[in-house]
Formats: sequence, structure tokens, C-alpha cells
Amino acid sequence: MKTTTQTKLLINLSLFFTLFYNYSFFENLIQVYTLEENLGFVISTAFVITFFLTFLLGLVSFRYTIKPIAITLLLVSSMTSYFMNSYHVIIDASMIRNMIQTDIHESLDLLSLKQGLYFLFFGLLPSYYVYKVKIEERGFKKEFFSRLKLLLLSLAIIAVAIFSFSKYYTSFVREHKPLRFTINPTYWIYSTGKYINLTFNSAPLVVKPIGLDAKIVDTSSRKKIVIMVVGEASRADHFSLNGYERDTNPLLAQEDIINFPNTYSCGTSTAVSVPCMFSKYDKGSYSYKKGISTENVVDVLKHTKKIAILWRDNNSDSKGVALRVPYEDYKTAKNNTNCKEGECRDVGMLVGLDAFIEKNREKDIFIVLHQMGNHGPAYYKRYTKEFEKFTPVCKTNQLEQCSQEEIANAYDNAILQTDSFLTQTIHFLKRYEKSYDTAMIYMSDHGESLGEGGVYLHGLPYFMAPDAQTHIGTLMWFGKGMKEKVSVSALQKRATNKYTQDALFHTLLGLFHVQTKEYKRELDMLNNEH
Ligand SMILES: [Zn+2]
Repeated sequence: MKTTTQTKLLINLSLFFTLFYNYSFFENLIQVYTLEENLGFVISTAFVITFFLTFLLGLVSFRYTIKPIAITLLLVSSMTSYFMNSYHVIIDASMIRNMIQTDIHESLDLLSLKQGLYFLFFGLLPSYYVYKVKIEERGFKKEFFSRLKLLLLSLAIIAVAIFSFSKYYTSFVREHKPLRFTINPTYWIYSTGKYINLTFNSAPLVVKPIGLDAKIVDTSSRKKIVIMVVGEASRADHFSLNGYERDTNPLLAQEDIINFPNTYSCGTSTAVSVPCMFSKYDKGSYSYKKGISTENVVDVLKHTKKIAILWRDNNSDSKGVALRVPYEDYKTAKNNTNCKEGECRDVGMLVGLDAFIEKNREKDIFIVLHQMGNHGPAYYKRYTKEFEKFTPVCKTNQLEQCSQEEIANAYDNAILQTDSFLTQTIHFLKRYEKSYDTAMIYMSDHGESLGEGGVYLHGLPYFMAPDAQTHIGTLMWFGKGMKEKVSVSALQKRATNKYTQDALFHTLLGLFHVQTKEYKRELDMLNNEH
């Protein structure tokens, strides 16, 4: 094996990163700064990235740290560049939270041959080289001056590059902020730091109770059963209820539902949207830390002491929302009677709910069903054979290998399955109509990109996310008794108004007639004074 010096290894590594892990960055860059007119600038960015990385690595890489650092960066970056190139995702702090909170089962959905090749050629092989290469020992003094020279030279090259194209760099920094999000490995390192800082760098978590004053002020003697279905990745424009040309809601269309065609999510990922929609904070003021350290509407309903609550989850988990109420994992055949070949169906969550209602006869009932829904990228796994109405379907988790039509077909079949699940939930509630006031609320967590403009899946930073990722499926159904109480005809009229997930907190309180100082009437979708 050859020998090298620390200095040479640092420069080579940085160059290697710039050339082989930043396809996404350069692809985006030359869309904004076309090559013909901006060749000099584009080349200068390669120098800036290379020597910025050299500078950063130069500050932390020494005899005993240089190899572990290099190998870690190579292994992780091979994967981040795979996801960035294939799905056009951005590895920001909330994406990292999403990845960490995702369980093994979902990660397996994402595994593919191409990913394996990325890992081999950009992760393992260069790591093996770094591991094997002999680093010359030059003594402290020599190494110190060599390093000092390297750091100063890096800064000088960066300065010259930026100075020569200062006009471009000003617009790059001011007007094209998202470009920086695709630089590998610096952006994922920055995001990891931000994630760690947001998550761990705080005093022990104390959850602030809210709505301790909550009480039910309903003069009616009838009890309520409300089932809230939290959807997964269902975008509004793929619902025939919202005018999609394909009939993706054939069963719901026959039910007396109220559809909300203009509803928008709080985030673009499960980890943001789910806690946000149940929190008292609106999209503007919500943050992960506030969400996790403040009770949510499920807790407030619990404080009334008159509502029996149950959260069943066929997704990853409740993202912290159901930590203080009864929770059942339905992604396991132990609880879910409707599992086959590792895939548990949402409809299994309805089994046994009768017993829960019976056991809590003295109380109102609030049940949350967190769906698997349209979880990507393996949409074709999300429905049973009977729902394979749109063909041919994309049968791989490597979405970029399928045509947009095949992806949409698989995705739409999964919407059909949700159409059926929601209808079965309504039929379940109908059995209780005589003795209870009943309601179902369905709201998806976020939307999904299906390859439009080369963007797949979800999780882009909100300000740059396409409508497909934020415009979500939302609908409600009310049983006979409840219909009168919520004045359905007035609600039907304003259903086309724009709503956001901010409304859910107050709508649930309104539906249960809960009085608390946390309740804001103007945000309640059921409030007739709109
Ligand atoms: Zn989700």
C-alpha cells in the first residue's frame, strides 16, 4: 500500500467529496447559473467547496482522528448522496429526525440494489483505502507547520474565488439559499448538529400541562364516539372527491361526508405534521421543542375525565402525541389480526373497538387510528390485490426506475384502499348511531411528490415544498344525532374555505363541547360563526 501524508489525504478526500458526492448540488446550480454563461463561477464553486471542506477537516483531523472521521464521512455521505440524487430530498434537521424515528421495517422498504452500489463504491471502497493507506509520521513540528500552511492556503483560495465572482456569490447567498442545502457532506453535518442541539441540548424534558381547566359543557344526555383517522401521505389532488379525474374515492362518494378540498399541512413529514396538528401551536409558532414539551389536545380531552381515549397506530408511532394515553401498536400481528407477509392493514385497527366502547360505557369515546395509508416509496405494498385497479404499477422501491404513470397507479391504488378503510370506519360508527352521537374526522399528515419535476416522496423544507407535499386529504362524517349539533348544512357551505392543520386542536375541543381557556372558537372548523 502507498503511503501519504495527512495533508495530501485531506486534500484528496475533499476533492473526492466535491467531485463524486455533489451531483445534486451541481445539477441544481447549473439550472440557476447556466454553464454557457457562468462557467467560471461554476468551476469556482468546486474550488470553494473543496477548500472549505479541507479547512474544516484540517481543524479536526489529526494522527488518531483523521481515519475515523474520514471513514464516517464517506459511509454516511454515500447514503445521503444516494437519497439526494435519487429522490431530490434534502438532509435537514427534520429529515434526520424522520430517519431516526423511522423503524427498521420502513427502512427496509427503502433498500435497493442501487443504494447498495452507492454504499459499495462511494462508502466501503474509499473507506477501505483510507483504512489501509499508511500515513507518514513527520513529527509534531513539521506536521504543525504543514497544517498551518494548508489552513491558510485554503482560506486564501476561497477568498480569491469569492472575490473574483463576488456578484455571483452575493446572489448565490441571498437569492438561492436552497442550493446550499445540497452540498455534501457539509449540509448533513450541519443538520446533524442542529438536530442534536434541538433534541438533546436542553434541560431534562418537563412537559407543560395545558387545559387543566377543561370540562365538558354539553346538556345532551347522549354520549359521543369520535374516531379520528390520521392519514399518511395522501395528497388532496389525488382524491376524486377533490376533482381528480380518476375515481379514487368510489366508496366515500356514496357516504354523506363533508369534504374539505383546501386543507394544508403544518409540515412536510410525519415527524413534524403529526405533533403539530395535535398541538395548540399554529404552523408559525410550532417547533419540535415546543411540541414535545407541551401537552396536546389529546391530553386536554383526557383532563375532562369524561372521555375514554385510545390511540391505535399502524404507522411508525404517535410521534409523542399519545405518550400519556392508552396506546396500542397495530404494526404487529400480536395486536393486528390483519397482517400478511409483514404488512399489517389499517382495517385491522377496527377489530375489537366494540369491546373498548363497551368497557367505557359511562364515557365519551375518542379513538385515534394512525394509518399506514400511502407510505412510500413502496406504494404497491400498501394495498391488497382487490384494489389493484390502476395498472401497470411500479413494483420497486426505486421510484426513479418507474414511469410517473406507474408510480401514480400504485399510489392511487393505495388511495383506493384508504377509501375503503374510511368507509368501513363510517360503517362501524353507523352501528352506534342510535345510542351515540358519532363522528369521523380524517386528516392526512402531509402530501407526497410522485416524480413531478424529479421530486419524490416528501420532507422538503416547507417554504420550497411543492403543493403536492402540503395540500392534504381531509374529510368528516357525522352520524344522525351529531349532524344536528354541528349544523352540517352550514358546514358544507364553508367546506371549500382554506383550512390548515392548526384547526384540528380547536375542532376536536369544539366537537366534544369542551370548555377551556385553550380553546379558540375562531379556529374551530365546526364553529358556525365563520
Ligand atoms: Zn407521514
